Parts: sequence; C-alpha cells; structure tokens
Amino acid sequence: MNTETETQPVIVVGGGWAGLAAAVELARHDIPVTLLESAKQLGGRARSVQTGSMQVDNGQHLLLGAYESTLGLIRSIGIEEENVLHRQPLSLYWNDPANTPVSLRTARLPAPYHLAWGLLTAKGLSLRDRLSALAFSRRQEKRHFSIEEDCSVADLLVRQDQSPSLVRALWEPLCIGALNTRLDEASAQIFLRTLGDSFNHARSDSDLLLTRVNLGAILPQPAADYIERHKGSVRLGQRVTELNIKDDKVEGIQVDETRYNANDIILATPHHVSLQMLKPHAALEPVCEQLQQLDDRPICTLYLQFDKNIRLGRWLQGSLGTLCQWIFDRSLYGQDGLMAVVISSDGEHMQWDNQELYNHVIAEIGAQLPQWPTPISWQVIREKRATLASTVGINQYRPDGQTPIQGLWLAGDYTNTRLPATLEGAVRSGLHCAQRIISARRHRHQQ
Ligand SMILES: Cc1cc2nc3c(=O)[nH]c(=O)nc-3n(C[C@H](O)[C@H](O)[C@H](O)COP(=O)(O)OP(=O)(O)OC[C@H]3O[C@@H](n4cnc5c(N)ncnc54)[C@H](O)[C@@H]3O)c2cc1C
Repeated sequence: MNTETETQPVIVVGGGWAGLAAAVELARHDIPVTLLESAKQLGGRARSVQTGSMQVDNGQHLLLGAYESTLGLIRSIGIEEENVLHRQPLSLYWNDPANTPVSLRTARLPAPYHLAWGLLTAKGLSLRDRLSALAFSRRQEKRHFSIEEDCSVADLLVRQDQSPSLVRALWEPLCIGALNTRLDEASAQIFLRTLGDSFNHARSDSDLLLTRVNLGAILPQPAADYIERHKGSVRLGQRVTELNIKDDKVEGIQVDETRYNANDIILATPHHVSLQMLKPHAALEPVCEQLQQLDDRPICTLYLQFDKNIRLGRWLQGSLGTLCQWIFDRSLYGQDGLMAVVISSDGEHMQWDNQELYNHVIAEIGAQLPQWPTPISWQVIREKRATLASTVGINQYRPDGQTPIQGLWLAGDYTNTRLPATLEGAVRSGLHCAQRIISARRHRHQQ
C-alpha cells in the first residue's frame, strides 16, 4: 500500500454510538476519518428527540458502572462524567400491586460481598428466596459466570432451584432490563456474562448511571465536535447505498451517485442494513448467513407530563406483574413532573394503538400512585428494533468485526461482543475495529 492510499480517510458508515466510538478513536490517533450518517442527526438508537416543545430521548437509557469503554470514551473527548451522569450505588425498588414492594441495596463492601449483603437484606423476599438467590450467585462466582452449553434463563433458574416468586421479583426484571428479551427465550450465557461484569469485579461496576442531560449531549454532539477538531469530517443525510469491493478488497462506498474512495470502511449500521449491503458480495455469504439469524426486540417509552410538583420520590422505580416495568423521574434532567415509563421487549401491547397503550399504562399508574393527577400531556415512542434479541445460542451467529474482505469491518451492538445489545457493546465494537485499523497501519509504517 502506498502513502497516498494511507492518507485516504477511513470511512465510518453510521453515526450511532458504535460508529462514533470508532471515528473518535481514529481521530484521536490522527487517522483521517469521514463519518457518514443517513439521518439528519447523530446517535442512532440512543439519540435526543424533539417532540413539540419538549426535548427527550428516543427511549430512556440507563448505564452501569461496568460500562468501562463508554465511560473512557466520554472522558477521552473531554466530558466530565459528573456533568452528564448521576452515579448512585445499586439500589432497586419494585412496587408490587399484588404483594409487598421488593427492594435491594448493595452494601459498602468489596465485590462480590456488596451484592451478597444486598441479597441477604433484600426487603419483600422470603428468607428462603434470599438464601437461594445468594447460593445462586455464589455458585456462578465459582463458575466465573459462564455456562458451557447455552440454555434459556428460565431453564437455568429452574435448574438452580430459584423459586417462581424469586424469579418474578428479581431475576425476571433484571433479565428483561438487561437483555430486552423474555426469560423463556433469553440466553443464559449472555445473562450470566452481564451479572459477572456487573457484580464480580469492582463494587462500582454495579453503580447505576442515570443520564442528567439528553443523550445527544453525552456522546453524539461532543464526539462530532471532537472528530471535526481533529481534522475528521461528519456528514449527515448521507445514506450509503453500496459497498465497492474488488478482488476481495474494499475500494469505497456509494452514496447514490457519489463515490467515496477508501481502503478501510467500518460498517456501523444496524444488522439488517448491513445485511443488505453485504448481500451482493459472494465472499461475504457466510457473514450474511449469520446476519440472517439475528432478530430484534422492541422497547416502548411513554413520556407523561404531570404538574411540575409531582415527584416519584426516587429516580427510578420498577413495577412487578404489570405492563409498565420502570418509571424514571426526569426532574433529574430539570424536566419537573415528566415521567418516562419503560416497557421492554415484545408483547400484546405492540398491537395496541397509542391511545390504548396510554389508557392501560395510566390505569396501572393510577392504581399504584392514586395521589397523582391525570397527565397534562403524553407521548409514546416505539422503537420496534430497539435491540438485538439476546436469545439462546445467538452468540454463535453474531459476526466478528473483521470480515473476509480486506479493509471491511463490522461494528455495532449486534456484533460478537458477547454482551447484550447495549451502549457498552456498541462502543466496544467500534473501538475494537478502530484499534485493529490503527495497529495494522502502524505495522505497515514500521515495515
Ligand atoms: C428505547 C431504547 C432503550 C434502550 N435502553 C438502553 C439502556 O438503558 N442501556 C443501554 O446500554 N442500551 C440501551 N439501548 C440499546 C442502545 O441504544 C443500542 O445498543 C445502541 O444505541 C446501538 O448503537 P449502534 O451504533 O450499534 O447502532 P445504531 O444506534 O442503530 O446506529 C446505526 C446508525 O447507522 C445509521 N444508518 C443506517 N443505515 C445507514 C446507511 N445506509 N448509511 C449511513 N448510515 C446509516 C443509522 O441512522 C444509525 O445512526 C436502548 C435502545 C433503545 C432503542
């Protein structure tokens, strides 16, 4: 490869968190980069949305202390964590219309004892359930939170003697919250990996990081500014339509009639979009076969604007046995009286229209919080393809970042990070591709 081609920008297709992470990492290492995003804004599935006079996110997001790569990335572009995120030790509270509420709070002890204490002292669980949750987590520590042959989380929990009441009050909400996939189809491998990452290393890994500002201000906008300050370029409204590949090497991409030449391309689009672009190329057939096995699950968020003095009393609250799974109090963002109600994964509610969904949610909230008035206004945001379905055996179909085509890389939450489809998975995959390109270029320079 000659010097001229080395100075050609790397092209990153897609300005979600994976593409942004890749582009920032390249820019940080003085590698010219052009990021092309089809939408009019950056952020992909984690973006800010303007609805009337209100700026919200396309869905309420929660980060964890274990999101090492995401937090490192944010720091690397000059954002102070405490300005954009509110960190609190793990403390969960679930209202249960049929029983007493369940709550769990980790202790100020080193991991994993902080969790052990939290499980032992959890409120709303019987002594038997607390002991059996503790025994489950001790057994998983010994097995390094891994399982050889994947099975559903539901099967794993039955085998591990977790009672139906414990599953309902603890494991089910954790599994749906983390994997956005129902217990009976969720991958035990991915679930255990998530538990291990959050509870088995440092105490702070299980911290909850609530966003204090809109998602756009956490990464997308500051990342774009950073890339441009480092001689990169970010272009919106650029829908990539085709990959130019010759002799199993990338040559560039097409945005309608415009061609961009490149020797390295990071395709950071959602898996169904990547599949369409890879399909015409015979060498990528095995990757396409993997991508065809992937499926998605939705997330619905209802934003309910109450009088400004209405407060939840905590930043987030779960709900058991109801359609509403979590309520977030957005006064943390300075949006007084605004509540975000989250419904993860699929279900009958996806067939209802917005009014029906609202009526159902408001009836549930009325039963749990009868002192609250009717909302002044409301808004439903449905993300039908919110995340990859983390189903049993799915890891074997998640492709690697490197493809059989020289210079073509895949990034995104769906790739083989072994994590559920999260911001952290997306960021890690983007960083990984960028680091492979950086080290290959370094290697060539040294030769
Ligand atoms: C409602 C909701 C709630 C969530 N909650 C959480 C949470 O609490 N915690 C958490 O960690 N994760 C959460 N997630 C998951 C997280 O948002 C995603 O895992 C992450 O944003 C995926 O990033 P990505 O870069 O891999 O993909 P995407 O965000 O999908 O980015 C792909 C980008 O490619 C662009 N693109 C598509 N086609 C083209 C094309 N032809 N040319 C150019 N550009 C193109 C898209 O417009 C998009 O910007 C949630 C997701 C949703 C939707």
